[in-house]
Amino acid sequence: MKIVMLGAPGAGKGTQAKQIAAKYQIPHISTGDIFRANIKEGTELGKKAKEYMDQGQLVPDSLTLDLIMDRFSKDDCANGYVLDGFPRTIPQAEALTAALNAKNDKLDFAINVDVPDSNIVDRMSGRRMCKCGGTYHVKYNPPKKEGICDLCGGELYIRDDDKAEIVAKRLDSYHAQTQPLIDYYDAEGILKNVDGTVNVDVVFQNICSIIG
Ligand code: ADP
Ligand code: ADP
Ligand code: ZN
Repeated sequence: MKIVMLGAPGAGKGTQAKQIAAKYQIPHISTGDIFRANIKEGTELGKKAKEYMDQGQLVPDSLTLDLIMDRFSKDDCANGYVLDGFPRTIPQAEALTAALNAKNDKLDFAINVDVPDSNIVDRMSGRRMCKCGGTYHVKYNPPKKEGICDLCGGELYIRDDDKAEIVAKRLDSYHAQTQPLIDYYDAEGILKNVDGTVNVDVVFQNICSIIG
């Protein structure tokens, strides 16, 4: 099973991708998580990516493609994956299609989690993250104990790029560079739209009824 998650920043791609990965026993690959791990470790890639991420801009395609192609070569990708945050530009989508074609392979679904811009600011301002990958929302998906991760007991933090002024820039990049992927995957015949404004469990049920 090879799935791409589409949707605005904060639409709930990561939240759903984690559940899909657990149910179908495939890795959840988030380019944002990989960049953040590199920033934390202070790698060269992390230093470069941070300059763009802090401005609400996309990391250049060349950097992103090197990183993701390396990730695909790992053994755990043999039975597929759920991609969250990649591809984010048409050239990235074309590179993915070409890499799959070269192996006589293809994606199964592109799932667009549809949430209007008016809900996005609320989603991102309440988002809380854990270094273990846990994602929470102060209103919609609170941890059992305030500020503490249910999964590992770690302290939750607010992402640098979830500040209001950066959120607006991320939404601009989304509309200019990423939204065209909806038409791209529609033309490939694999696009599925789900309403992302309903609660987390209902979104997941709707996704499961699509992917089987
Ligand atoms: P969100 O989950 O809010 O959509 P991500 O964690 O996926 O955010 O990404 C955070 C930031 O990392 C993006 O704003 C962008 O700067 C960078 N990034 C992540 N994935 C990509 C990608 N495929 N191409 C370019 N930049 C990316
Ligand atoms: P993305 O990966 O698309 O940026 P996330 O999965 O990180 O989005 O979700 C963004 C924020 O919205 C998080 O705080 C998350 O807990 C919350 N969230 C996710 N799905 C829903 C939903 N269906 N309803 C309300 N809040 C949600
Ligand atoms: Zn945790």
